[in-house]
Amino acid sequence: MDSVAIVTGGSRGIGRATSLAAAKRGYKVVVGYASNKAAADEVVGKIEASNGKAIAVKCDVGNEADILDLFRQADAFGKLGALVNNAGVVDATARVDEMSAARLTRMMNVNVVGSILCAREAVKRMSSKHGGSGGVIVNLSSVAATLGSPAQYVDYAASKGAIDTFTVGLAREVSAEGIRVNGIRPGLIDTEIHASGGEPDRAHRLAHTIPMKRVGTADEIANAVVWLMSDEASYVTGTIVDVSGGR
Ligand code: NAP
Repeated sequence: MDSVAIVTGGSRGIGRATSLAAAKRGYKVVVGYASNKAAADEVVGKIEASNGKAIAVKCDVGNEADILDLFRQADAFGKLGALVNNAGVVDATARVDEMSAARLTRMMNVNVVGSILCAREAVKRMSSKHGGSGGVIVNLSSVAATLGSPAQYVDYAASKGAIDTFTVGLAREVSAEGIRVNGIRPGLIDTEIHASGGEPDRAHRLAHTIPMKRVGTADEIANAVVWLMSDEASYVTGTIVDVSGGR
């Protein structure tokens, strides 16, 4: 395969695991990162050490100019076949009556607007309507979209609810143009996102609430992402897969 996959937030956590898994499946991977260049370079180095191809590109998905540059660099790398809208942020635990407008704007801008803008750029390249030859988009949602995350981060849960609706709508919009669009709703996964919300142990603290009684790994999410990207999922579109140990 000589197709390019863009993974936003591909430097750490689920994005890192997805970048490595996509490379194993033969994709040339564009590893997006917000600020941690060293982490992105480590992922690229690991892919290259296994004879794969990858580049690291700085792209804050909250910034449209960065997104346009990400896709320009991907174009120079090869033909776009897949986009994984993985970059996402949480914030400190808070009730809605404590949330500032600045917090809400960042949350929606990164998690929702960023994903939609990346999808826009992907559709322009993949859609048969624009002369493209198809492709796949996978959006990272969260089980939070179904639980609402009360007294933790309802704003984050709402942003992921928007991603679910966007996934269904975009899938139906471009299904006849060669593009499949699906989502993954991870449960509690062992990554650094919990530390970024001020609670490094969050996933493990809540493990007893998960029907399978354990947190998930980034690889377990990545496996589902690359399956949705593959021809094995050729008749799957507009679907959101829960990968959550039953949560
Ligand atoms: P993570 O460990 O915190 O990694 C976040 C990744 O996204 C990093 O590569 C980071 O880049 C990048 N990133 C952060 N802000 C960004 C921005 N504004 N623009 C572009 N990239 C940005 O997160 P994760 O746990 O792997 O989560 C990945 C996705 O899964 C997110 O959408 C998250 O909401 C979703 N999810 C995670 C869990 C979970 O339990 N972990 C559960 C449900 C859903 P740098 O390295 O440069 O900082």
